[in-house]
This record gives sequence, C-alpha cells and structure tokens, in this order.
Amino acid sequence: MEYLSTRGGMPPQRFSDILLGGLAPDGGLVMPASIPQIDDATLQSWRGLSYADLAFQVLSRYCDDIPADDLKRLIDETYTPAIFGTEDITPLVPLEPASDAQGPLYIEQLSNGPTLAFKDMAMQLLGRLFEYTLLKQDRWLNIVGATSGDTGSAAEYAMRGRQHLRVFMLSPAGRMSAFQRAQMFSLMDDNIYNIAIEGVFDDCQDLVKAVAGDLAFKERHSIGSVNSINWARVVAQVVYYFRGYLLATAGQPYGADGQPQQVSFTVPSGNFGNVLAGHIAKRMGLPIRRLVVATNENDVLDEFFRTGRYRVRSARDTHATSSPSMDISKASNFERFVFDLHGGDAERVRALWQQLGETGEFDLAGTDAFAKAAAWGFVSGRSTHADRLQTIRHWHQKAGVLVDTHTADGLKVAQAYREPGIPMLCLETALPAKFAESIVEAIGQQPPVPAGLEGLEARAQRWVRMPADVRQLKAYVAART
Ligand SMILES: *Cc1c(COP(=O)(O)O)cnc(C)c1O
Repeated sequence: MEYLSTRGGMPPQRFSDILLGGLAPDGGLVMPASIPQIDDATLQSWRGLSYADLAFQVLSRYCDDIPADDLKRLIDETYTPAIFGTEDITPLVPLEPASDAQGPLYIEQLSNGPTLAFKDMAMQLLGRLFEYTLLKQDRWLNIVGATSGDTGSAAEYAMRGRQHLRVFMLSPAGRMSAFQRAQMFSLMDDNIYNIAIEGVFDDCQDLVKAVAGDLAFKERHSIGSVNSINWARVVAQVVYYFRGYLLATAGQPYGADGQPQQVSFTVPSGNFGNVLAGHIAKRMGLPIRRLVVATNENDVLDEFFRTGRYRVRSARDTHATSSPSMDISKASNFERFVFDLHGGDAERVRALWQQLGETGEFDLAGTDAFAKAAAWGFVSGRSTHADRLQTIRHWHQKAGVLVDTHTADGLKVAQAYREPGIPMLCLETALPAKFAESIVEAIGQQPPVPAGLEGLEARAQRWVRMPADVRQLKAYVAART
C-alpha cells in the first residue's frame, strides 16, 4: 500500500514511513493511494473471528510493509480482555428492540480501555507500533503534545514504559476535571512528563506549535506528535465498524431483498477522526447505510452536512460545553474526506484550503462533490446541554443504561435517523465516570467508578508547573532528551 498527500506534494510512501509523522511535508494529510476492497464472501468469512483476528484482517491491508507475524503479535498484545475489560473488546448493548416503525437501537461500547474513552482503541495499538518501528529503525521519539483531557491521557497510557519513547504532555493548569488530572498526573513512569501550563488550552497548543516549528530543535531532539491526524489511528478505528456490523447482523446477514443487511452508525464527532474511519469502512465495502455525524453546540460539521458550507470558528466562538471533547473550531481530519469527495483531486483540495486560510470558509453547495456526501449516506444533527441531560435521563430510566455526555449527543441525534429494518449503532465514546458533574445534574447521582479506579484522585501525583514560555519549555525538554 502506498500513501499520498491530500495536497499532492509528497512522493509515495509506505506505512512505516508515515507512521511516526504528522502532516505531510506539503501541509496536507496522508491518504492511502487506493482503498482495499472487501467482497461479501470475505466479509461473511470474518464472522467467527475474535476482535484481534478481525483487526489483523483489516490492518494487514494497510500496513503491508510490516511483516505479518510481527503485526499479528502487536495486535494480539493490544486487543486483550486485560486491556479492554471484556472478551468482546467492543460489546454491543441493546437499548431498544426493533418495532414496525424502526430498527433496533444499540450502543457499541468503545470505552472500556485504560482511560475510559474510545481513543484507547487506536492509541493502545499506536504505542506498540511506535515502539516496534523505533526499535527497528534505532531511533528515539520525544512526543510533545497538548491536551485538554482525553487525548493526552490516552497517549500517556499507550506510551508509558515503552522503549525509545518519551511523552511531554502540556495541559492548562487547573482546567481539567479532577478525574482527568488524577489519571494523567498519577503516572510515575520515567518516560512520562506532565507539564501544567499557566494558561488555557490554546496557550498549550501554541507552545507545541512553537516547539515543532523550530526545525533545528525538532531535528536535534527527535520531536514528534500523536495528534488526531495520524493515519494509523484512523485505520485502527476502522476495525470496530466491521466488528459492530458483524455483531449486529449475526442473526440476519441478509435483508429481505437478499442483499447484505445494512446498518447505520451514529458518531459523536469533533475532529472527524472517528466518523472518517466509518467512511473508510464503507468505502471498503462494509454495508453501511447512514453515517450520522452528531455535534454539540460547536456545530461546524452539522452546518457543512446540512448546507455544504464549511466555516471554521475562532477560539472565541468555540463554546465550552458539557461534552468538552467535541469542542472544536475546525475538524482536523475533514481534509481527508474533502479529498475523497473530490475523487482524490489534490489540486482542488489545495485551492480549497488556501481559500480556507484566507477567508475562514469554503462552500461546496450545489457541487457534485457535495452531492456525493449525501449519496454516501452522510447526515448530521446537533445536540445541546439540555438535550444531553434529557437523553442521559431517558435511557437511564428506560433501559437502565447510563451514558456519558458525548454518547448522549450521539443518541439524541440518532433518533431522527432510525428507519424500519435498519439497526442503528451509536458509538459510545467515553464512560460517564469521566464527566461526573453532568451525570449528577442529569440523574441526581454519581456515576459508577470502574473497578480498579476507586481512589484514583487520592493517589500521589507528579507534574511540573510552568509559565507559558517557549524558552523554558525547550530547556526542560532539551535537558531530558
Ligand atoms: C475525541 C472524542 C470525540 C471526538 O472524536 P473525533 O474523532 O475527534 O471526531 C468524541 N467524544 C469523546 C469522548 C472524545 O474523547
């Protein structure tokens, strides 16, 4: 498999070459040169596979320059009940059975990994892939990242104790939830450095950009990142769409028309990484009918799918909501989707992103490209704080299932797109324990704390505090790399 840039300025590369990188050298995002196709016979033959075996089938088509035995071992070490809590890895939980009016509703649980959010699904594999590749190439990687919560902890739990890797994670001092802070700061591994910056998340991100923008420093200290545009993260996420499909259609592989049964997915979305993986699964041949993009009050993506207009927001116009992991002003993975909408026309993508840089928006209304989004089954909706609370309450009372605020956004939006005969799978993106305050607001009681995490907030914590000063940050990193 060869990889290209969405802006056309990168010679073809192999998976191992793009694994550790961020943006392509021309500022674009890497995409596979072609999408591997899975026919129905192959899909049906995957029904009996374990999660790890299924992951190998999907991933080996994208990572074909890693020897199969090595890839298999890394995958087998990742998707285990010890790490993901259950034999199923991503269990399907029925919320409502089928009726004449609509197909059954499920939650696909993706949040039973170490940091209680779906980012573990990809990040746990990424940690092992990084270590494997770095050892093989005899290189070190020093990850400098910024987090407001979920990404940073998922990265630290994936990279902790790994050889040839260090993580320097910046977070805004005093602005994470007590649970999130305890999760990160209680790690005592030698290769994990937590840095609480005196500022807000944007200050942290600016510092990371300043460090990465100093090319000499970056080179000298082998600085890298693990942000949501990493292609390996996207492709690891493709697997659970196959898994959810196979579980939901186990009793009924074919519809009344004799065609493979279709299902729809609803995905709480921020940077468009999760739902992009669903799109890739569909492009591989998985019978997905609808991909429902659910946003919160930060509705950049909902606006696009309703109108064709993509209008990024300023930091000032980005609301702080009770589903904070979806508080984005622009969707970093969206460029990959727009590339695909234009049939891989890098020239066009480059022009659109130039326009975006100049005016903060572009408009695809009325174009063939925008018509394709609908033809591919994309629809969208938005959810508000009141919707989240009401949805959490509703499913808690009705089905005895407690969901977090992000998953609630998905469930709220999903209702409008359920159809007779089509199962609807809502992806769960975090556990309620991470967002206790909103859960108490919704149902008047604390969410359960998963086994092993009782007393997390009382554990010893280790971090350093630093002003938002790039020279101090560089000196800190330089002294440890
Ligand atoms: C990251 C995250 C999202 C958004 O996922 P994207 O891939 O950025 O669209 C939604 N919910 C939770 C809990 C997250 O951590």
